[in-house]
Amino acid sequence: MQVLKFGGTSVANAENMNKVSGIVQQALVRLPQGKTIVVVSALGGVTDVLLQSGGMAAAGDESYKELLQKVEQRHLEAVKALIPVTQQSSVLSWVKQRCNEIEDICNGVFLLGELSARTKDRIVSFGELLSSKIIAAHLNAQGVENTWVDSREIIRTDTHYGSAAVDFAITNSLCHDFFSAAAARLFIVPGFVAADAKGNTTTLGRGGSDYTAAIIAGAMNALTLEIWTDVSGMMTADPRLVPNARILPHISYQEAMELSHFGAKVIYPPTIQPVMSKNIPVWIKNTFAPEDHGTVIENDVHKNGNNIRGISSINKIALLSLEGSGMVGIPGFSRRLFESLANDLINVILITQGSSEHSICVGIDEALADKAKLAVDRTFAYEIETGRVEPLRVEKGLAIVALVGDNMKSHPGISGKMFGAIGRNGVNVRAIAQGSSERNISAVIAAADVKKAINVLHEDFFETTYKQINLFVAGTGNVGSKLLAQLKQQQQYLQQNMRLQVRIVGMANSKKMVFSDEGIELDNWRDHLQKGEASDLAKFVETVRSKNLRNSVFVDVTANEMVAQVYDQLLAKSISVVACNKVACSSAYVYYKKLKDLAREYNAFFLFETNVGAGLPVIGTLNDLLRSGDVVTRIEAVLSGTLNFVFNNYDGTRSFAQVVKQAQDEGYTEPDPRLDLSGTDVMRKIMILAREAGEHLEMEDISNNSFMPASCMVGSVDDFYKEMEKQEKHFKEIYQQAASAGKKLKFVAKYEGGKASVGLQHVDSQSDFYHLYGKDNVVLFYTNRYPDQPLVVKGAGAGAEVTASGVFADIIRAAH
Ligand code: ADP
Ligand code: ASP
Ligand code: MG
Repeated sequence: MQVLKFGGTSVANAENMNKVSGIVQQALVRLPQGKTIVVVSALGGVTDVLLQSGGMAAAGDESYKELLQKVEQRHLEAVKALIPVTQQSSVLSWVKQRCNEIEDICNGVFLLGELSARTKDRIVSFGELLSSKIIAAHLNAQGVENTWVDSREIIRTDTHYGSAAVDFAITNSLCHDFFSAAAARLFIVPGFVAADAKGNTTTLGRGGSDYTAAIIAGAMNALTLEIWTDVSGMMTADPRLVPNARILPHISYQEAMELSHFGAKVIYPPTIQPVMSKNIPVWIKNTFAPEDHGTVIENDVHKNGNNIRGISSINKIALLSLEGSGMVGIPGFSRRLFESLANDLINVILITQGSSEHSICVGIDEALADKAKLAVDRTFAYEIETGRVEPLRVEKGLAIVALVGDNMKSHPGISGKMFGAIGRNGVNVRAIAQGSSERNISAVIAAADVKKAINVLHEDFFETTYKQINLFVAGTGNVGSKLLAQLKQQQQYLQQNMRLQVRIVGMANSKKMVFSDEGIELDNWRDHLQKGEASDLAKFVETVRSKNLRNSVFVDVTANEMVAQVYDQLLAKSISVVACNKVACSSAYVYYKKLKDLAREYNAFFLFETNVGAGLPVIGTLNDLLRSGDVVTRIEAVLSGTLNFVFNNYDGTRSFAQVVKQAQDEGYTEPDPRLDLSGTDVMRKIMILAREAGEHLEMEDISNNSFMPASCMVGSVDDFYKEMEKQEKHFKEIYQQAASAGKKLKFVAKYEGGKASVGLQHVDSQSDFYHLYGKDNVVLFYTNRYPDQPLVVKGAGAGAEVTASGVFADIIRAAH
């Protein structure tokens, strides 16, 4: 004997039912001697509609009639499409009669304004009765003889309507008697439906058609049980949550049970038990791709080297915590807690108990939380009144994620990896449980974090392919557009060589912003941005936070003060921040410190290498020195690409203002060039280096020996250029003073003994700064290990291309 079960999607309409009939006929060929039993679900979605109709009728809402009308229509259409006209009439009238029955019952419910669990089961049972009858008639019409069986005659349950418990002793013998005596080769059976001892209709719980099939397979000791559905097997995770989920070709009964218990909807959890005890292999197959291998669930499982089989999740969980000093060392508290839940038929999904015995914590279905609170507080009323136990604490809005695998036991490090991965992504774990079977590790987290957590875990445990990095880029100016071009150019390389899939999920400039979960196409990001909505920083940040994507990185390639002020909100959600914007690091020390602390606390990166020396590895080098135990005694540096360019190119032949303008046109200056010319930008940079070296410095602490006449620094940028023209004499004098002594002008920053200063200096040919051309920067680190000859970092210290590449490198650092 073999048993095949077809789910709701497989029988959703005539087209699909035709596929089912093909699969059934092939199955008959495969087993020419034995019997074949086909169990079917209701047409996809019908169970929900029937329950909804009952609910509406009970609530006095007459629209249940329209819903039932549609249900009838759907079934009649299926009959008309599947069965030749000459043979339709008896099936059509059977379907109509059943639909009338449903309506009669609902009318009764409407009149009474009451819907009992028993009546609900009556109503909902029609879904499977109708679908199975239609399939049976369809097969008959095709010449495939079969017998329709009313499952209420072969499956006996208790009276726990809605999710009745099977009486296996009676059921097994009813099945035996029935199928052994029947002459037919093929039987069509409605799933989900059963009956109690008095013959009242009961149901086996949502998704219960799988169970019906397993019960019959177990009772009849079938050769195989095939569950035909709409996916090609049990997968490493729910494919609706994890697009990269993979099919598992083989898994053990225990693994299947754990995965389904923790939410893998593809099989109804109780299904495994009746077949496992008889060692009957269960195949999960795809009705829409029957040639696919599918999953086989059995005892003897080939090891595939991966200790984790799958990851599943259950939403809508509530956590109940019973706590109190009066619980310590006194036996019986757990028993009373569980008894009180059991008496109210509340199923416990997860249990943890602190070893202090001071608290017990259980996870249950959120819908039952209020009922549980009443029951438990009632049970412990005396202890609560005398202060020995706190009233039951209930937290809703939670979910469970579970890692499942037989081989997890005796493999250390799995839970470490699990919690490390989700922790890095800012997912807070509310409770943890690991079964002593070591077959699963489960964590209770906020429901809003499920998708992120599952994807992160899937990436860490299953995906040898790539890791996804989700970028949100603020700023599409000089540096921003270069960065986007570099990302586009390197996308393929990163995926192939570093296994990183970098996607730009959000992008904004001062006018527009746009988001795309699939990643904004970099070929024509300008068009996408143009079509986006009006820019709104607060909304942008809120979207970044609420998208709650794994491995999120916010990239600030603006020079904007407002943008610098949102980093804290992002870091506090474990979103890494990469900035070439210097405002944050050079603002008040408390904010800089706060951002550093937040990054540490929330396991995010806060990276700003390009704040000093553009793409040069200045901050990274400094950090490496310090981390390896070196002590920085002095830093001397030329840190302004603009000023270096200006003094390298100014010799009085062209006006100073013209040379500055050229620097701006070539993209070396800050958007406001006065920040460079005044020395402020250099002050910010040396302050950032000093801060990174552990110094608590503010801008006021830095002395600035500025060479700019004060009159140049008022008004607009235009005024600034005009005034510089007027002051040409002043600049010429500065130049000639140095040139006449054979020296060059360099704007030098210095940090030593806790103090920092910046200013224009004359340097001679002996100086490290003398041979510094174009827009180059140089940083000299004097340390305990480099006392006389400094460690030198030198190269282009300004320009959009090199700055973008520095930002790029920080993004890759954040990705790891
Ligand atoms: P049926 O109606 O055939 O019984 P279900 O909808 O009950 O089908 O179950 C199949 C669905 O289960 C799939 O479409 C898939 O979206 C979902 N699912 C959840 N977790 C998993 C998993 N780990 N593997 C496969 N499918 C899963
Ligand atoms: N039709 C029932 C449900 O939707 C049973 C099943 O499909 O397995 O829950
Ligand atoms: Mg199902």
